[in-house]
Amino acid sequence: MKKENIFYEDIAEVIISEERLQKRIRELGEEISASYNPDDDIVMVCILRGAVLFMADLARCVNLPVTFDFMDVSSYGESTTSSGMVRIIKDLEENIENRHVLIVEDIMDTGLTLKHVVDMLKTRNPASIKIVTLLDKPERRVEKQINADFNGFEIPDKFVVGYGLDFAEKYRNLPFIGVLKEELYS
Ligand code: 5GP
Repeated sequence: MKKENIFYEDIAEVIISEERLQKRIRELGEEISASYNPDDDIVMVCILRGAVLFMADLARCVNLPVTFDFMDVSSYGESTTSSGMVRIIKDLEENIENRHVLIVEDIMDTGLTLKHVVDMLKTRNPASIKIVTLLDKPERRVEKQINADFNGFEIPDKFVVGYGLDFAEKYRNLPFIGVLKEELYS
């Protein structure tokens, strides 16, 4: 990370560089494209707000006709540990019945958020539901029934920011994934 970056003092370590992110996202796009039929009716569901940058880059690497929709669910607020509480703040606009849903998530931590979202979307009778997550912290998984179909990177149990991920709404615009200095949130 360059010293002139406005967040230079806040980041302890860059764990995934911009180059590695973009390379892996291209690979994920290829994996996803190969896993569907070109005539499948696919809706990419971005989980706001953390997955916005990932969805924007990933969608351009998916060689299939897709539509976009967005869902906002509550996560940690201004703390860094899961409350286990999940609240739907904004629901989908589209009807997903008989459609192939691809949930696009920034990070899977305990798995509680996605378990809740998947259970809710299943009741709407989609043709299928798959999950792509950019980051996965497998050590932290509480909800064992949930796994991503496509996963960008497995990371250790550290609080990360950047490339869409925030702390108190900051750092989302960093182009890489970095570990936030602990003194900033402890
Ligand atoms: P889960 O329900 O799997 O525990 O948490 C998922 C949500 O928690 C993610 O969508 C994200 O908003 C938040 N989260 C989990 N780990 C981290 C992290 O290391 N950094 C940030 N910024 N958010 C995280």
